[in-house]
Amino acid sequence: MNQPIMPSDAIVLRSVEEARDEILRHFSPLSSETVPLMQALGRVLAEDVQADIDVPPFANSAMDGYAVLGADLQSVTPDTPVILRIVSEVPAGGTTETAVEPGTAIRIMTGAPMPPLADTIVPFEETDEGHADSLHAQGQVRIFKPIPLGASVRAAGEDVQAGTTVLRRGTLIRAAEIGVLATVGAANVAVFRRPKVAILATGDELVDVGEQPGPGQIRNANGYANAAQVIAAGGEPLQLPIARDTEQELNDRLNEALAWGADLFMTSGGVSVGDYDVVKKVLQQRGNMEFWRVKMKPGKPIAFGHIEGVPLLGLPGNPVSAMVGFELFGRPALLKLQGRDGYLRPTIQATFTGSLTDRADRRQYVRVRVEQRGSEFLAHLTGEQGSGVLTSMMYADGLMIVPEGMTHVEPGTELPVLMLHWPEIAPEQVFEVADAGADCC
Ligand code: AMP
Ligand code: MG
Repeated sequence: MNQPIMPSDAIVLRSVEEARDEILRHFSPLSSETVPLMQALGRVLAEDVQADIDVPPFANSAMDGYAVLGADLQSVTPDTPVILRIVSEVPAGGTTETAVEPGTAIRIMTGAPMPPLADTIVPFEETDEGHADSLHAQGQVRIFKPIPLGASVRAAGEDVQAGTTVLRRGTLIRAAEIGVLATVGAANVAVFRRPKVAILATGDELVDVGEQPGPGQIRNANGYANAAQVIAAGGEPLQLPIARDTEQELNDRLNEALAWGADLFMTSGGVSVGDYDVVKKVLQQRGNMEFWRVKMKPGKPIAFGHIEGVPLLGLPGNPVSAMVGFELFGRPALLKLQGRDGYLRPTIQATFTGSLTDRADRRQYVRVRVEQRGSEFLAHLTGEQGSGVLTSMMYADGLMIVPEGMTHVEPGTELPVLMLHWPEIAPEQVFEVADAGADCC
């Protein structure tokens, strides 16, 4: 028989930060593996990567045009164009030995190496190229505009210098990182192993997605939403079959997950103080497990501990609570397992457009859609804030953080919003650029 868990159980109260710090303390990066470049997409780099060559490897033209000597263009005005003799032509991928001597020009395409002595590129647009009266047939080009010395020349190593570290261990590999890795010849890339996460939805009332719920039954949403969150966080989920609220089924599922080699168990449901919360009981029996009431809403009851050395995060059963609990605790743990350089989502300041009253003396994470209006962000409620209202999670791109003790939030209140789809950023990623410059397209 199920034994009631008495409310007298010592349940520790924690802030979100305390709970997260306590959880993260138990995670460190997994081993690494080497994969072909494209398989590194979405994964975390496990070693620093140095450039084997300068990028670009040689000085080249940033425009289709003419390679010239800047000194030849000093006296140019639209009325007194300079006429240069075309001595060669160089396409991208080609090279030329011909030097640009005073009074000459070499026709050149974007990306082609600068010919010897040439120091400036004149784009076609500033010449008679393509004009009806062009001198091209006579092997000459007219230039109508004074062009600054060095214009439209990309220096060797302008982007990356050979030997420098272009990507650091801990970097999330996205499309731009894939491109930079390709540029420096990283055909194979060392990445951290994906964490294996066993997902266990518990509850006598649950039926699977393909089934029609009978009286008193609901479909299992958490097993799917949490698995999707695991994938989005770079993990590999194993969705275990729904566990009924019996010790036997729970133990069987946990054994299955152990045999699979889980790096983390994630359960949903059964960790509060109800009569049938057997998850709690089994966890207490099999592991060193702590049960917390985290001072947050939604998602107060959270369990964390280990079973046979494998960490377990016990999320609440209400679907929004389970998803928010994963965001705040599960995702940072998965990122830390993958060696990521940052674990926390960025927050922005936004102006609340709705109105909210809640007497719970807990920090609230309110589902909002963020809209930029001029230079300010607005945060709109996405719907009812009940912890079972999963559609309002679907429309949310942020969680507005209402501090403890603020029981009424008026329209116009400025509050931080945790951005659910913005990438976690390493704290040290700040760039200093004196003048970004611009050439070409
Ligand atoms: P519990 O934490 O087990 O007491 O569950 C709290 C609430 O969440 C109950 O209304 C459950 O029916 C619901 N719930 C639990 N697990 C799931 C699940 N996997 N999918 C959808 N709802 C769930
Ligand atoms: Mg339950």
